[in-house]
Amino acid sequence: MLNLETNQIETILSNYIYLATGGNGQVYRTTTNPAIATGDGVAMVYRAKGRIENMEFIQFHPTALYEPGLLGQAFLITEAVRGDGGILRNKSGEAFMERYDERKDLAPRDIVARAIDNEMKVTGTEHVWLDCRHFEKEKFIEHFPNIYEKCKSIGIDITKDMIPVAPAAHYSCGGIKVDEKGRTSIRNLYAVGECSSTGLHGANRLASNSLLEAMVFAHRCFEYVSQKVVNGVPPSQYRKTAPVPEWNARGSSHPKEMIVITQSLKELRQVMSDYVGIVRNNYRLQRASRRIDILWDETEELYRSSKVSPQLLELRNMITIGYLIIKSAIFRKESRGLNYNTDYPEKSNLVQNIVL
Ligand SMILES: Cc1cc2nc3c(=O)[nH]c(=O)nc-3n(C[C@H](O)[C@H](O)[C@H](O)COP(=O)(O)OP(=O)(O)OC[C@H]3O[C@@H](n4cnc5c(N)ncnc54)[C@H](O)[C@@H]3O)c2cc1C
Repeated sequence: MLNLETNQIETILSNYIYLATGGNGQVYRTTTNPAIATGDGVAMVYRAKGRIENMEFIQFHPTALYEPGLLGQAFLITEAVRGDGGILRNKSGEAFMERYDERKDLAPRDIVARAIDNEMKVTGTEHVWLDCRHFEKEKFIEHFPNIYEKCKSIGIDITKDMIPVAPAAHYSCGGIKVDEKGRTSIRNLYAVGECSSTGLHGANRLASNSLLEAMVFAHRCFEYVSQKVVNGVPPSQYRKTAPVPEWNARGSSHPKEMIVITQSLKELRQVMSDYVGIVRNNYRLQRASRRIDILWDETEELYRSSKVSPQLLELRNMITIGYLIIKSAIFRKESRGLNYNTDYPEKSNLVQNIVL
C-alpha cells in the first residue's frame, strides 16, 4: 500500500482482503469515470490467476458533455434531461432518434449510445447536440442546477445554445467473478462494488443499479467476513510479505520513461475508443489485440528495467484491462447487451459467461 503522507510502500499482512477499487473507464479516451478508475483490482486479480468475467460489457453513457481537448473525466449530462424533454439532434439539426427507435430519445441507454455513435460516424462529427432551448429556464435551473452552471461556465446558455454531447465509457458490468458473499476464486480475497462481477447486471446494467454491488453486496460480504472474524481469526498462512520492488513514489520523471508512459496511455485510449468502443467487429478487435500486445511488451520492458512508479503501475494495469476487454469481446461470438459486434449481429441462444 502506498502511504500518501510518507510516500512509502507499506506491506500489511491480513487474513481477509477486500478489493473495492471501482471501475475502469480510464482505459477509454472519453469517460465519465474519475482518474482513479484504472481497473487496478481487476488487473491484480488477473495477475494472481483469479477469475475475471464478462469484461466486454462496458456501458457507455450516451450524453457526456463534449469539451474539445478534454482529457480525463467528462461531465455527465443526466438522462433525466431527456426524460424531461431534451431532444438529440445531429449536425443538420435533425431529431435523429426517431429513425432508430420508436421510443425516440427515451430509448434505453445502449440504443441511444449506438445511435449517437452512428450519427457521429456518418456525419464525421465529434459530437451531437442536446436541445433544451424549449425548456422553461427557471424549471431547468431548479431540476438541473449543476448542468446549468457547468454549461454556463463554458459559455453555453441552454436557453439559446444546444449542448454538445458524445457517448463516454461509464460502467463496467463485468470484473472479478464473485459469489453472493463477495468471495472471489482466490481464498480469503473478496471483491465488492464496480470491480466485482456479481452477474446482477447481466449484459447491460440498468441505470442507477450500481448500488446493488456497491451497497447491498458489499454489506453482505462485510457481514460474512465479520462472522468469520468473530468465530476466531485463524493464523495467517503466509507470515512473510512479498519483497517490494525498487519504488519511486514521487513518480517517474525520466524522459525515456515518461515517453513510454504518456504515449502508451494515449495509444491505449485511442485503440480502445476506436476499435473496442460501442460498435465492434472482428477486424477491429484483432487490430486492437495486436496493438495492445506491443504496448504490453514495451511496458513490461520498462517495468523490469526501471524503478516502479504509480504512473507505470497504473499504465500496466490499464493495458491489462484493455487486453481483458478485447479478449472477452473476441470470445463472445454474438451481440448481447453492451457487446455489439457487426459480424455477429444476433443474440445467441446459448447464454454463457466469458471467464478469463
Ligand atoms: C458521473 C457518474 C455518475 C454516476 N451516477 C450513478 C447513479 O446515479 N446511480 C448509480 O447507481 N450509479 C451511478 N454511477 C456509478 C457508481 O457511481 C459507481 O459504480 C460506484 O460509485 C462504484 O463504487 P465503488 O465503491 O465500487 O468504487 P469507487 O467509488 O470508484 O471507489 C473506488 C475506490 O478505490 C480506490 N482505489 C482505486 N485503485 C486503488 C489502488 N490501486 N489502491 C488503493 N485504492 C485504490 C479509489 O481511490 C476509490 O476511493 C455513476 C458513475 C459516474 C462516474
